[in-house]
Amino acid sequence: MKQSQLIVPNGHSKVLLHSCCAPCSGSIMEALYTAGIDYTVFFYNPNIHPRREYDLRKNENIAYAEKHGVPFVDVDYDSEEWFARAKGLEFEPERGIRCTMCFDMRLERTALYAHEHGFKVFATSLGISRWKDLQQVNDCGKRAAEHYPDLIFWDNNWRKKGGSARMIEISKEQEFYQQEYCGCIYSLRDSNEYRRQKGLESIKIGTKFYHQDK
Ligand code: SF4
Repeated sequence: MKQSQLIVPNGHSKVLLHSCCAPCSGSIMEALYTAGIDYTVFFYNPNIHPRREYDLRKNENIAYAEKHGVPFVDVDYDSEEWFARAKGLEFEPERGIRCTMCFDMRLERTALYAHEHGFKVFATSLGISRWKDLQQVNDCGKRAAEHYPDLIFWDNNWRKKGGSARMIEISKEQEFYQQEYCGCIYSLRDSNEYRRQKGLESIKIGTKFYHQDK
């Protein structure tokens, strides 16, 4: 199926797209507008640390949405609540239960907004990265949808039909910021520890960008 043949579940006409960043949502946004689907980008990612990294990711996503005339909902940087929920999970590995909590929190908020604003379908960019466990993301999305009658989590596999390759192409075309860790303070710590063991420099926030020739 080509992207232009994407069909929203149950024949609904609009979608709330939870986005974690511009690189991950770029090809999904393109697929949605190519298919003529009415959608809104919803940015709720209180996991991202520090604030400078959060602002970089969010502002880039806002700029990309504005470029395409797509409505963008910017939700609170609710980091205190995220840290409260992460208590005791600080040393869990990526793809473990801290990530389940993190996906749950973000998708529960997305589902609530969808319910309150007349969206019957929501989706997320979280599963497009090959670093993520797609089943884990989808399970969290479905759990979030269960709170509301008639709300559907659209578990389309955005990696397929060239989605993963297009994600990188768009990132290079747009010269998006190239994030080097998942997002939270613990993933930053663990990524830096990995780099230290490999003899590499620590991550420098705000310095790495995709380029056409790389
Ligand atoms: S590693 Fe990523 S998904 Fe997991 S808790 Fe941290 S920010 Fe969330």
